[in-house]
Amino acid sequence: MRMSAMHLNTLRAAPGDAEIPSHIWLLRSGMIRQTVSGVYAFMPLGWRTVRKIEQIVREEMDRAGALELSTSPVQPAELWHESGRWPVYGPELWRLKDRHGREFALGPTAEEIMTDIVRSDITSYRQLPVNFYQIQLKYRDEARPRYGLIRSREFIMKDAYSFDRDEAGLDESYRLMRDAYTRVFERCGLEFWPVAADNGPIGGSGSEEFMAISDVGESDIIYCDACDMAATSEQAVVKDAPAETEAELELEEVPTPGKKTIADVAGFLELPREKTLKALLFQVYEDEPDERGEYRIKEYLAVFIRGDRELNMVKLRNALGGIGEHLLEFADEKLIGEATGSVGGYTGPVGLHDIRVIADSEVPGLKNLCAGALREGFHLKNVNYGRDWTAETVVDLKLASADDVCPVCGAPLKQAKGIEVGQIFKLGTRYSDAMGACYTDENMKEHLVWMGCYGIGVTRTMAAVAEQSHDDRGIIWPLSVAPCHAIVLTAKQGDTAQAELAERIYSELSASGVETLLDDRDERFGVKANDADILGIPIRITVGKKAEEGVVEYKLRTQGGFEEVCPEEAIERARNAVASI
Ligand code: ATP
Ligand code: MG
Repeated sequence: MRMSAMHLNTLRAAPGDAEIPSHIWLLRSGMIRQTVSGVYAFMPLGWRTVRKIEQIVREEMDRAGALELSTSPVQPAELWHESGRWPVYGPELWRLKDRHGREFALGPTAEEIMTDIVRSDITSYRQLPVNFYQIQLKYRDEARPRYGLIRSREFIMKDAYSFDRDEAGLDESYRLMRDAYTRVFERCGLEFWPVAADNGPIGGSGSEEFMAISDVGESDIIYCDACDMAATSEQAVVKDAPAETEAELELEEVPTPGKKTIADVAGFLELPREKTLKALLFQVYEDEPDERGEYRIKEYLAVFIRGDRELNMVKLRNALGGIGEHLLEFADEKLIGEATGSVGGYTGPVGLHDIRVIADSEVPGLKNLCAGALREGFHLKNVNYGRDWTAETVVDLKLASADDVCPVCGAPLKQAKGIEVGQIFKLGTRYSDAMGACYTDENMKEHLVWMGCYGIGVTRTMAAVAEQSHDDRGIIWPLSVAPCHAIVLTAKQGDTAQAELAERIYSELSASGVETLLDDRDERFGVKANDADILGIPIRITVGKKAEEGVVEYKLRTQGGFEEVCPEEAIERARNAVASI
């Protein structure tokens, strides 16, 4: 490709809302441009990188035996009603109506569509196992689209769905996908970890996320150096503190004027924070909106957890039967106070009424805690579970942190941040049961199919690579996903010897499968060198003053300096580098 014929629009500065390097450099290199918040166009060189990542994904999926197909992103609401996800998915589901008022969603994922195909096409065990995948645009009306391709509203996802006879079959399909994902992210040049994860609104049991390690990652990862435990902080099991054996003391109401937070109360009463009980109050909404389209409050909820702990919202939502994020909100203080007797800043478990109470699993083992007294300016000391109050549900609700110990081996934990580039799920019979996807076995007995689903964010992966690999001049693309492998420049415009040699190198490289850009524009060398850097092309060959002596400069984008070599050597090196991808 000749730069004179390439469409290039590099920017001197990125728009103000681009905060992180991948977003800044993808925009500044002109590889992507924003159409509207969370929706992007991919320009010619950017699209080449997308296609490369897609190709890696495709090769690895094919190698694992998955079959590529393509379904429409326009999905009828009926299928979502059948699976039960239409009401629970919430406002992230991009809903639309046709001219007849029939409802649809733009697919955020395709479990329903794939299960629908399988329930009508597959009847016999002879047709199983099967794994269908597609690479297509997905839609999620994210509350806060940001970070460019990392959290967009339209993005490219590879999604695969495996269907098996039984659990053992699912385990094998899952293993194949796990291996394929590992190869995909290795080939993309990412530093990543698979970590144990929550199933979220997709449902089912058993899941791992592939996390590209990065400070700008939105996921907290908890890991252990001593064993190989790694999980999202939301999923990590947190060990309960050992049950306390001290004698239960008498309840005592003490004045705590103006002391509303755990830190204030603990300080004022000179208690360690571990001896306090934190109350968090929520309102839970009905699954479906009423006739006016509004969600009504179904019940109030009080959650109690040791004062120094953080509540894990994912564990809480799971304890409530996996309800959607939009159906749970911090309670309106006034309304909940009237309904349940709670008092803002002074809420404790003793005497609350008309409210569902949930306690973290370590709370029943703790003795003589300090909690709100349900009276402005007062707390209760020596509150004991069982004697003074009980909860309807007792379950682990703790958010893991680096202060905890490894739930597997007891060693101290560490924390890192990651960008979730892929996730794999064992769904089991979650969808086949809801939608009636069955097969008959050798004895004509009917069974539900066992399902798994597996997603890779193709465009998010592109951003994650840029996030892990850039400098102050632009992205440093690994050869495997670079828009082109090499770029050939001349130092002096109008120099015939230089132009001729550059032309020869360009055609030889191109002929041997090295994707090469020839910068034949009528521009100063500095401009060309800048563009080569901002585009992040891995190999740069500069034909300069020594062209007539048969010497050119060979430079890698990863390195500061260059080497002087003969043209043949430069061509050979580039060829070998590309052959080794
Ligand atoms: P997140 O927790 O980041 O919102 P998710 O867990 O909801 O993502 P999945 O349902 O697991 O996402 O989708 C599969 C993959 O699709 C993710 O691993 C991610 O790489 C990609 N993806 C999901 N949401 C987005 C988005 N808004 N923008 C870009 N890629 C996304
Ligand atoms: Mg996910």
